[in-house]
Amino acid sequence: MSSPPPVCVWLKRDLRVADHPALAAAVERARGGAVFAVFLYEPEVLAQPEWDASHTGFQAECLSDLAPALARLGIRLVTRRGEAVAMLEALRSETGFRLLVAHEETGTGVTYARDRRVRRWAREAGVEMLELPQTGVVRRLASRNGWNRLWEGRMESPQAAVPRATGRGGLAVIERLHWHCHFMQKLEDEPAIEFHNMLRAVDGLREEPVDAGRLAAWQTGQTGYPLVDACMRSLLATGWLTFRMRALLVSFASYSLWLHWRPTGLHLAQQFLDFEPGIHWSQMQMQSGTTGINTLRIYNPTKQAMEQDPHGVFLRRWLPELVAVPKAYLHQPWTMPADVQARAGCRIGSDYPAPIVDHAVALREAKARFATLRRSPAAVAEARDVALRHGSRRDRRGAMQQDPVRRQLRKRARPAPPDPQRLLPFAEPDSREP
Ligand SMILES: Cc1cc2nc3c(=O)[nH]c(=O)nc-3n(C[C@H](O)[C@H](O)[C@H](O)COP(=O)(O)OP(=O)(O)OC[C@H]3O[C@@H](n4cnc5c(N)ncnc54)[C@H](O)[C@@H]3O)c2cc1C
Repeated sequence: MSSPPPVCVWLKRDLRVADHPALAAAVERARGGAVFAVFLYEPEVLAQPEWDASHTGFQAECLSDLAPALARLGIRLVTRRGEAVAMLEALRSETGFRLLVAHEETGTGVTYARDRRVRRWAREAGVEMLELPQTGVVRRLASRNGWNRLWEGRMESPQAAVPRATGRGGLAVIERLHWHCHFMQKLEDEPAIEFHNMLRAVDGLREEPVDAGRLAAWQTGQTGYPLVDACMRSLLATGWLTFRMRALLVSFASYSLWLHWRPTGLHLAQQFLDFEPGIHWSQMQMQSGTTGINTLRIYNPTKQAMEQDPHGVFLRRWLPELVAVPKAYLHQPWTMPADVQARAGCRIGSDYPAPIVDHAVALREAKARFATLRRSPAAVAEARDVALRHGSRRDRRGAMQQDPVRRQLRKRARPAPPDPQRLLPFAEPDSREP
C-alpha cells in the first residue's frame, strides 16, 4: 500500500518549533505520514525597499538553528530560492504534496499579493491550503468592537502542541503581545496604510518632494543633535533600538525635519532586524501624527539627551567626534565657545555638524500646521472613522481591571520589572569622563 502524500509546511516569519500551530496541524493531518517544511528565499521579497541583507543574515541564522530542531521531530527542512508559486509547484511535482499548511501573514503589499497568487495556484493545482493564525491578529475582522475579547481568547487558548511547551512570561510580555497584535491588526485590516496616511485629511501636509539633504543627514547620524545622531549610528551598527529611541528618531524626522514618514520608514525598516510591517508602519504613522487618533508626540532631542544620558556615556560611545567634549556642552555641542572646541578637538560644522535645523522653531511651525488641520471638520469627522477602524477599545483605566480573563492573566503573571524600552542602554556614569 503506497504511503500517503507528504504534508508541506510553508515557513515564513515563524522559524521556530515551539507553539507553532501550522506545524502541529500538519503533523496531525499527516496522521503518521511524512511532513516536510519549506522556506523560500523570494527575490521579490528580498528586493523590497524595506529589505536589508541583515534581515537575510538573521533568517539564515534562524534556519541553521531550526533544521536540527525539526529533524529531531522527523521533519525535513527544505530551502529554495525563487518565486513562491514556481517553487511550490516544483515541490508539488517532486513530492506530490496535496496539503499546504502555513501561518497567516500580515505583511507588506508584496507579500500580500504573493499570498493571493499562492492561494489561486493552490486552488488551480488541487492543493488544499490551510492558513492558521499565530498571533492575536484577526483576519477579515468586521469591526474593532469585541477585538479585545477575541485577542484574550487567543492568548488564553493552549499553545500548539509541539514536543516542548514553553512557560508564559510576566505582565510586560502580555502587554507587549497585546501591542504587537493591536498594531499588526491595523495593517491587516487596511493594507493601504503601508503607503497612505491613515487620516487622509493630512494628505499634502508633508508630501512635497523629500528634502534629500535632510533625509541623508538623518539617515547617517549627521543632524548635529547628539542623541538623534548617536541613536541612528547605534542602530546602523546593531540593528536594534529601544522603543523610546525609535520614537525619538521618527519624531525628529517628522516634526523637526518635516520629512514624510514613508522614506524615513523605509530606512528604519531596512535597519530594524526585527522589522515587522504591521507594527512598523502603524508606529511610523502614530509617531508622525498622521493617524488622527493619537496625541502628537514630539520629543525634544536635547531634553531627551539630558534625561536619558546625563553622563553622556551613550553619546561618547557612538559619536567619537564628541569624546573629548566637556559634559557641560556635550548635549548641545554647538554652544561650545571656539576655544573649548579647539581644546576638545571638535570644531562644530567640520568635525561634528552644526544643527541642521532649529528644533524650537520647527516645533512651533509643526504644531501650528497640525493644529489648524486637526481642527478642520473634515479631519474631525474622518478621525472618528479611523478610531472606529483602528482605535483600541480600552477605557482610560485599561480593560484589564474589568475583564475577568485579563484579571486571571494578571494574577498569574510576575510583577513587571522597570521597563528597559523607556531607558537608554549603557547610560551608567563612567570615570573616564573628561
Ligand atoms: C517608529 C517605530 C517603529 C517600530 N518598528 C517595529 C518593528 O518593525 N518591529 C517590531 O517588532 N517592533 C517595532 N516597534 C515597536 C518596539 O519599539 C519594538 O518592538 C521594541 O523596541 C523591540 O524591543 P524588544 O525586542 O526588546 O522587544 P520587547 O520589548 O521584549 O517586546 C516583545 C515584543 O512585543 C512587541 N512590542 C513591544 N513593544 C511594542 C510596541 N510599542 N508596539 C508594538 N509592539 C510592541 C514586539 O513584537 C516585540 O518583539 C517600533 C516602534 C516604533 C516607535
